[in-house]
Amino acid sequence: MINYLYQEQNWQSQLSDLITDPLELLELLQLSPEQLLSGAILASEQFKLRVPRAFVGKMSVGDPFDPLLLQVLPHHLELEEHPGFVTDPLDEESANHIPGVLHKYSSRFLLTLTGACAVHCRYCFRRHFPYQENLPKNDDWLNIQSYLQSQAQINEVILSGGDPLTLSNRKLAQWIERLESIAHLKILRIHSRVPIVIPNRIDEELISLLKNSRLRIIVVVHSNHPAELDDFTCSKLLQLTKQDILVLNQAVLLKGVNDSADVLVALSHQLFEARVMPYYLHVLDKVKGAHHFDLAPRQIDLIYKDVLASLPGYLVPKLVREIAGEKNKTPLFGIATF
Ligand SMILES: *Cc1c(COP(=O)(O)O)cnc(C)c1O
Ligand code: SF4
Repeated sequence: MINYLYQEQNWQSQLSDLITDPLELLELLQLSPEQLLSGAILASEQFKLRVPRAFVGKMSVGDPFDPLLLQVLPHHLELEEHPGFVTDPLDEESANHIPGVLHKYSSRFLLTLTGACAVHCRYCFRRHFPYQENLPKNDDWLNIQSYLQSQAQINEVILSGGDPLTLSNRKLAQWIERLESIAHLKILRIHSRVPIVIPNRIDEELISLLKNSRLRIIVVVHSNHPAELDDFTCSKLLQLTKQDILVLNQAVLLKGVNDSADVLVALSHQLFEARVMPYYLHVLDKVKGAHHFDLAPRQIDLIYKDVLASLPGYLVPKLVREIAGEKNKTPLFGIATF
């Protein structure tokens, strides 16, 4: 393990000191530059390498197949074309009416406040999404506000990505205050991978902001592998869960990363150590460039069957797929046999 002393470094400086050069990443992990075939550099130009040092600190030195490394290192296979793997698999462009807003689920409303993420996950379904054209500016709040006020069935707003926890606490506080002013909103959900890749993001200010909101707060983190949840990360997540903030985890099932029941079972147990409940296990979205993470339906069934057999029901994440145009995630089981 590399120790970067990231436990003492504040999150803002960690966020401004991300690794973006694949060669630097390999060098830190004592891996040979030949690890990168020429296509990988091209792949990293299409979707830049971006990874916090604290996350690299959880990788094993000298292991080219480290499951955390595989999630972030650009790969020449990303350049391959595969039928059915497209740039906007969820057809989000068509759900886009007001800048920053996606209203595709009936009772909840997705607000994208930033296009930035702390980490670039190679399998991300938004790797081709035109974020920057679609962020709310300050005066868009009035539009969003009148839209929300007209939709009484919406009781929940989801801050999604990009990654909302890359925003400053001041900016978050401003948006939370705005949302609190809509009387029928009850729940604020924050989807973020930052607590996993920069655990120090969970700072006193954030905790007090969330703790003092009149909205019920749910934080959905994104961790795919138990090695992402070292003691320090768990201790930070515990600081949230100890405030009665519900923390859930979503994971993506990825070939070469967590495609075994043992890993998924260990992930659930590790989450529970931090009082985080497994929520979703997503089947990969068929996004262009992510084909090498895809698993056959038959394998998915076998893995999930083992997971079900090994865990108490409350630690089993729901296996789901997102289907373009559907109003909810589609639960899957027995996908090879139906
Ligand atoms: C599925 C999804 C949601 C809605 O999640 P539910 O938990 O099913 O309400 C919100 N944001 C993102 C990014 C999603 O993929
Ligand atoms: S943090 Fe989430 S939104 Fe950002 S690249 Fe990773 S999976 Fe995609």
